Amino acid sequence: MSSKPDCIFCQIVAGAIPCFKLYEDEATLAFMDINPVHPGHALAIVKPHYADLFATPADLLAATTATLQKVATAVQTTLKPPGMNLLQCNGPAAAQSVPHFHMHAIPRHADDGLAMNWDLVPGNHDDIAALAERIRANL
Ligand code: 5GP
Ligand code: ZN
Repeated sequence: MSSKPDCIFCQIVAGAIPCFKLYEDEATLAFMDINPVHPGHALAIVKPHYADLFATPADLLAATTATLQKVATAVQTTLKPPGMNLLQCNGPAAAQSVPHFHMHAIPRHADDGLAMNWDLVPGNHDDIAALAERIRANL
Protein backbone atom coordinates (compact mmCIF):
# COMPACT_ATOMS: atom_id res chain seq x y z
CA MET A 1 0.00 0.00 0.00
CA SER A 2 1.40 3.40 -0.95
CA SER A 3 2.37 5.49 2.06
CA LYS A 4 4.20 8.82 2.47
CA PRO A 5 6.41 8.99 5.57
CA ASP A 6 5.87 12.71 6.25
CA CYS A 7 2.07 12.52 5.74
CA ILE A 8 0.11 12.87 8.98
CA PHE A 9 -2.79 10.72 7.74
CA CYS A 10 -0.42 7.98 6.53
CA GLN A 11 1.05 8.01 10.04
CA ILE A 12 -2.45 7.66 11.51
CA VAL A 13 -3.19 4.74 9.15
CA ALA A 14 0.09 3.11 10.26
CA GLY A 15 -0.81 3.58 13.93
CA ALA A 16 2.26 5.77 14.52
CA ILE A 17 0.01 8.70 15.54
CA PRO A 18 -3.14 8.02 17.58
CA CYS A 19 -6.66 8.97 16.55
CA PHE A 20 -10.16 8.65 17.96
CA LYS A 21 -11.09 5.88 15.56
CA LEU A 22 -14.72 5.41 14.54
CA TYR A 23 -14.53 2.73 11.86
CA GLU A 24 -12.15 1.01 9.51
CA ASP A 25 -12.21 -1.52 6.73
CA GLU A 26 -9.64 -2.75 4.23
CA ALA A 27 -9.58 0.43 2.15
CA THR A 28 -10.70 3.23 4.47
CA LEU A 29 -10.47 4.65 7.98
CA ALA A 30 -12.77 7.08 9.80
CA PHE A 31 -11.93 9.09 12.90
CA MET A 32 -12.83 12.25 14.78
CA ASP A 33 -11.34 15.51 13.47
CA ILE A 34 -8.92 16.86 16.08
CA ASN A 35 -10.03 20.48 15.38
CA PRO A 36 -13.79 20.01 15.24
CA VAL A 37 -15.83 22.79 13.65
CA HIS A 38 -18.70 21.46 15.76
CA PRO A 39 -18.89 18.41 18.05
CA GLY A 40 -19.18 15.28 15.91
CA HIS A 41 -16.96 16.58 13.08
CA ALA A 42 -15.57 13.36 11.56
CA LEU A 43 -13.27 12.41 8.70
CA ALA A 44 -13.23 9.44 6.35
CA ILE A 45 -9.90 8.83 4.61
CA VAL A 46 -8.58 6.42 2.04
CA LYS A 47 -5.83 4.23 3.52
CA PRO A 48 -3.24 4.37 0.69
CA HIS A 49 -1.66 7.75 0.08
CA TYR A 50 -3.42 9.67 -2.68
CA ALA A 51 -3.17 13.45 -2.48
CA ASP A 52 -6.62 14.51 -3.59
CA LEU A 53 -9.78 13.79 -5.58
CA PHE A 54 -7.94 13.84 -8.89
CA ALA A 55 -5.32 11.29 -7.83
CA THR A 56 -7.62 8.80 -6.10
CA PRO A 57 -8.92 5.76 -8.04
CA ALA A 58 -12.69 5.73 -8.46
CA ASP A 59 -13.22 2.50 -6.50
CA LEU A 60 -11.44 4.03 -3.50
CA LEU A 61 -13.49 7.23 -3.80
CA ALA A 62 -16.58 5.04 -3.67
CA ALA A 63 -15.26 3.15 -0.65
CA THR A 64 -14.46 6.42 1.18
CA THR A 65 -17.93 7.80 0.40
CA ALA A 66 -19.55 4.63 1.75
CA THR A 67 -17.50 4.92 4.94
CA LEU A 68 -18.40 8.59 5.28
CA GLN A 69 -22.09 7.74 4.91
CA LYS A 70 -21.80 5.10 7.63
CA VAL A 71 -20.05 7.47 10.02
CA ALA A 72 -22.20 10.52 9.18
CA THR A 73 -25.31 8.43 9.86
CA ALA A 74 -23.93 7.44 13.27
CA VAL A 75 -23.05 11.09 14.05
CA GLN A 76 -26.60 12.07 13.02
CA THR A 77 -28.12 9.35 15.22
CA THR A 78 -25.90 10.29 18.16
CA LEU A 79 -26.10 14.10 18.12
CA LYS A 80 -29.17 14.83 15.99
CA PRO A 81 -27.81 18.11 14.59
CA PRO A 82 -30.35 20.02 12.48
CA GLY A 83 -28.00 19.86 9.49
CA MET A 84 -24.88 18.19 8.16
CA ASN A 85 -22.44 19.15 5.41
CA LEU A 86 -20.14 16.75 3.62
CA LEU A 87 -16.99 18.52 2.51
CA GLN A 88 -13.95 17.56 0.47
CA CYS A 89 -11.15 20.03 -0.32
CA ASN A 90 -8.59 19.98 -3.13
CA GLY A 91 -5.64 22.36 -3.13
CA PRO A 92 -4.60 25.21 -0.84
CA ALA A 93 -7.06 27.67 -2.40
CA ALA A 94 -9.85 25.28 -1.38
CA ALA A 95 -8.37 25.13 2.14
CA GLN A 96 -7.00 21.60 1.83
CA SER A 97 -4.47 21.43 4.67
CA VAL A 98 -3.70 17.69 4.59
CA PRO A 99 -2.81 16.45 1.09
CA HIS A 100 -4.11 12.90 1.63
CA PHE A 101 -7.60 12.27 0.22
CA HIS A 102 -10.30 12.64 2.88
CA MET A 103 -13.89 13.72 3.31
CA HIS A 104 -15.46 15.64 6.19
CA ALA A 105 -18.84 15.12 7.86
CA ILE A 106 -19.61 18.40 9.65
CA PRO A 107 -22.72 18.77 11.81
CA ARG A 108 -24.36 22.16 11.20
CA HIS A 109 -26.57 24.42 13.26
CA ALA A 110 -28.76 27.34 12.19
CA ASP A 111 -26.83 30.62 12.08
CA ASP A 112 -23.60 28.91 13.16
CA GLY A 113 -21.56 31.39 11.13
CA LEU A 114 -19.74 28.86 8.92
CA ALA A 115 -19.02 30.57 5.63
CA MET A 116 -19.63 27.72 3.17
CA ASN A 117 -23.21 28.80 2.44
CA TRP A 118 -23.98 31.24 -0.37
CA ASP A 119 -27.00 33.08 -1.71
CA LEU A 120 -28.65 31.62 -4.84
CA VAL A 121 -27.90 34.13 -7.61
CA PRO A 122 -28.96 32.90 -11.08
CA GLY A 123 -26.08 32.53 -13.56
CA ASN A 124 -26.02 33.54 -17.22
CA HIS A 125 -27.32 30.53 -19.21
CA ASP A 126 -25.14 31.23 -22.24
CA ASP A 127 -22.03 31.35 -20.04
CA ILE A 128 -23.04 28.15 -18.21
CA ALA A 129 -23.77 26.32 -21.48
CA ALA A 130 -20.45 27.39 -23.01
CA LEU A 131 -18.54 26.27 -19.94
CA ALA A 132 -20.39 22.94 -19.87
CA GLU A 133 -19.29 22.35 -23.45
CA ARG A 134 -15.64 23.05 -22.58
CA ILE A 135 -15.81 20.71 -19.55
CA ARG A 136 -17.54 17.92 -21.53
CA ALA A 137 -14.65 18.08 -24.02
CA ASN A 138 -12.33 17.01 -21.19
CA LEU A 139 -14.43 14.06 -19.99
P1 5GP B 1 -8.56 19.74 5.05
O1 5GP B 1 -8.39 21.17 5.44
O2 5GP B 1 -7.30 19.18 4.44
O3 5GP B 1 -9.79 19.48 4.24
O4 5GP B 1 -8.83 18.98 6.41
C1 5GP B 1 -7.84 18.39 7.19
C2 5GP B 1 -8.44 18.11 8.54
O5 5GP B 1 -7.60 17.23 9.23
C3 5GP B 1 -8.60 19.36 9.41
O6 5GP B 1 -9.99 19.54 9.73
C4 5GP B 1 -7.76 19.06 10.62
O7 5GP B 1 -8.35 19.48 11.82
C5 5GP B 1 -7.62 17.55 10.58
N1 5GP B 1 -6.38 17.07 11.15
C6 5GP B 1 -5.11 17.53 10.89
N2 5GP B 1 -4.21 16.82 11.60
C7 5GP B 1 -4.91 15.91 12.31
C8 5GP B 1 -4.52 14.88 13.24
O8 5GP B 1 -3.35 14.68 13.55
N3 5GP B 1 -5.52 14.12 13.77
C9 5GP B 1 -6.84 14.32 13.45
N4 5GP B 1 -7.75 13.53 14.03
N5 5GP B 1 -7.23 15.26 12.58
C10 5GP B 1 -6.29 16.05 12.03
ZN1 ZN C 1 -0.78 10.13 3.26
